Amino acid sequence: PFDVLVVGGGPSGASAAVYAARKGIRTGLVAERFGGQIMDTMGIENFISVKYTEGPKLAASLEEHVKEYDIDVMNLQRATRLEKKDLIELELENGAVLKSKTVILSTGARWRNVGVPGEAEFKNKGVAYCPHCDGPLFAGKHVAVIGGGNSGIEAAIDLAGIVKHVTVLEFMPELKADTVLQERLYSLPNVTVLKNVQTKEITGTDKVNGISYIDRATEEVHHVDLEGVFVQIGLVPNTDWLGESIERTRMGEIVVNKHGATNIPGVFAAGDCTDSAYKQIIISMGSGATAALGAFDYLIRN
Ligand code: FAD
Repeated sequence: PFDVLVVGGGPSGASAAVYAARKGIRTGLVAERFGGQIMDTMGIENFISVKYTEGPKLAASLEEHVKEYDIDVMNLQRATRLEKKDLIELELENGAVLKSKTVILSTGARWRNVGVPGEAEFKNKGVAYCPHCDGPLFAGKHVAVIGGGNSGIEAAIDLAGIVKHVTVLEFMPELKADTVLQERLYSLPNVTVLKNVQTKEITGTDKVNGISYIDRATEEVHHVDLEGVFVQIGLVPNTDWLGESIERTRMGEIVVNKHGATNIPGVFAAGDCTDSAYKQIIISMGSGATAALGAFDYLIRN
């Protein structure tokens, strides 16, 4: 059996695997797609100490670092079941069952898409999902934020400090964000809030040039010229394959303590699939390190 089996090959999983292997213990890593979300990322400017890199390049560096160690990497394998017996069993889609003394879940998350024409086409060409990451790219420009929940309104407030103008589109007749956030938003001079509207299309040529929406009360279609669209309608953790036994939040995020431990002894978690406050590369790598050290600590005590 493995001492540490990491599920997920994004920044958190790669970090956890390297930290575990450096303890000289038997380490494996199962990933559906090595690299994770950064494979879909263009410019990265907030991975501290690296002024600029691109997702696939960072993923290649992660892989190179992992390969420096004796880590059994099983790429293109999806985990479908986890069960704690004497050891922890991890079943893969191909039917294989791996056994390990500890497991680190680092299966990440995915942004919920609005699913309108133009969204996929203009991803990284004006369609963005992370204001902390891509906000500065739109300095002085006009952007839209789709979503009037807490994350959408936080994004709008954040962006209003960087860009020229922010238009918020909310499907429901009222914003769902906390009152303090709404008050802050409405105090800003360069924000327009559109409620009871349905996004119809993100328009553009080689990059985004506008957004069309339907006023749900009148059913009229309107168009706004702008250069960027931030989709903020939720981040979904990749945890639905886990059974009921692992404690999760209402949103499906795995609950971890400060050692990265879950409620199941020997099962740890890291990165975007957990209830960590913020979802970023540098944060997920840090939590991967924490979970690996937590798992090592667990192994020497059990
Ligand atoms: P992920 O990167 O999501 O990796 C999850 C891993 O688990 C993948 O290997 C996946 O294949 C695997 N997996 C999932 N389910 C299973 C399963 N059942 N079995 C086996 N493997 C599984 N952050 C920044 O700091 N700066 C940026 O500029 C930035 N830009 C971004 C741009 C975009 C478009 C996106 C989508 C995200 C961006 N982020 C950015 C966020 C950043 O990518 C994430 O915070 C980070 O990748 C999280 O790492 P992770 O390892 O926790 O999860």
